[in-house]
Amino acid sequence: METAQPSPGRATSWLWLTYVAIGLGLVVGYYLVPPHGAGGVARVAGYCLVSASSAAAVLAGVVRLRPEPRLPWLLLAAGQAVYTAANITYYLLHYVVGVTDFLTVSGVFYLARYPFVVVGLVLLIRHRTPGRDLPGLLDAGTLAVAAAMLSWLFLIGPYVHGGSGQPVEAMISVGYPVMDLALLTVGLRLVLGSGRRPLSFFLLTGNLVAIMTADTVFALEQLDGGYHAGNFLDGIWLVGDIALGAAALHPTMIRLADPTPTGDQRLGQGRLAVLLAAALAAPVTMLIRYAQGITYDIPVMAVASVLMFLLTIARMAELVFDQRRLAITDGLTGLYTRRFLEAQLPMEIARVRRSGGGLALFIVDVDHFKSINDRHGHPAGDRVLAEISVRLRGATRPGDVLARYGGEEFALLAPHVCLEEVGAVAERLRTRVAGGPIAVTADSWIFATVSVGACVFPAHVSDQTELIAMADRALYVAKAQGRDRAVIADALWSDTVAGGDSTTGGSADVRDIQNA
Ligand code: GH3
Ligand code: MG
Ligand code: MG
Repeated sequence: METAQPSPGRATSWLWLTYVAIGLGLVVGYYLVPPHGAGGVARVAGYCLVSASSAAAVLAGVVRLRPEPRLPWLLLAAGQAVYTAANITYYLLHYVVGVTDFLTVSGVFYLARYPFVVVGLVLLIRHRTPGRDLPGLLDAGTLAVAAAMLSWLFLIGPYVHGGSGQPVEAMISVGYPVMDLALLTVGLRLVLGSGRRPLSFFLLTGNLVAIMTADTVFALEQLDGGYHAGNFLDGIWLVGDIALGAAALHPTMIRLADPTPTGDQRLGQGRLAVLLAAALAAPVTMLIRYAQGITYDIPVMAVASVLMFLLTIARMAELVFDQRRLAITDGLTGLYTRRFLEAQLPMEIARVRRSGGGLALFIVDVDHFKSINDRHGHPAGDRVLAEISVRLRGATRPGDVLARYGGEEFALLAPHVCLEEVGAVAERLRTRVAGGPIAVTADSWIFATVSVGACVFPAHVSDQTELIAMADRALYVAKAQGRDRAVIADALWSDTVAGGDSTTGGSADVRDIQNA
């Protein structure tokens, strides 16, 4: 159905490019202007203008393109606005008032920006991957643990161990790496999870990479006293601002929150290599520190190693469960595989031998399926099979095993079905399938019917092989007697046939089975 989708027309496609061009022009101008006197004022004005323009661009993108949901983008805009306020405060204090311990005042503003961005991204991710995405979560966790450990060793720890400066200042200095870790964790979730990746996605992740890179270098420079305002880091922060604005102005921004099914997290070579590097970070760093004779952060590296092991084992377990699920699931219909049903059979038979009751096996074969393929094509045939499996599933009970037994054959293993009930169950399977038309193409429908053969253990047979063989023979009789009917193994002896419009019974086939 076509909705009144805001058309990402020409106006919008040149808008984002214009924004990028002007923004990058300002960045170049920023470094061309001398950092003192009137040039300094122009620099400050340009810097604050670019960061403010980014917030405005995000709002403009929301208004023009009307993304659904809006909240993630509004939070990103709010985060950028808070960041702009931090920049203005910083420069006012630094250049106008002459206060240099800026950390305490504008630092609070700088830190306040992160929660907005983190929450905005979390909301976006939840829309992109509804439901559970355990592999993506575990992979992001693994990388985040490695990053947290390195951040502690090289950024946070030195501030804490150094113990110099006022506590508030130290807390704010530590706040950046901590906030960056939170940002990195959701950023990894965004990148490692499933979901569309149009240009807007890359612009948004570019913004995150710019923030984290510049923040990290900034923290390192602060540690060794090498930072001075207006150095190359400003360029990275500015380009990050422009990337965010461009991400919101680009027409593909409306696609970012599109839900995509999870479960397609392939553990490709690239991802494996990154995970391996992350997992090795803790032991390798421990060795290096050991060689350097530094012992005080060993507990941190040990805890990181433990977390890595737990995450790796969890990922392995998830993969094993996933492989097992795939191995017993038919790809087209989502039903169990024949192999799974055959593995369940001996267990169910043993259970009946132990505690009594009945075990029914139904084999269901689609009538004249070849002609459906011939007339409508193989893909249409596949759709019919999928629909039939949905209908059959609707006729089963919890505990039943419904499998795709062959190409267009299904089998139902139903515990606790006794001789009196088996006819009704077989009939239910048949009528569910025949009950309504099935769409083969957008405008053509067919009626499909099935034939059902059923047999009950131990009422009719004494072991598993006979159970399968007799259900199969009953199906054969149903076909021979005109299809669209259910035949129960005992009917072969009593000459009564359930279902269909034919009342033929007692055929030669029936006696064949009797003799078998
Ligand atoms: P009958 O009533 O005697 O069962 O007739 P039929 O045409 O259903 O039986 P037959 O065994 O001659 O043909 C089964 C057809 O099912 C042949 C095969 O091409 C088709 N088939 C098997 N598996 C698939 C599948 O996965 N997808 C599709 N589209 N067709 C399949
Ligand atoms: Mg068939
Ligand atoms: Mg068949």
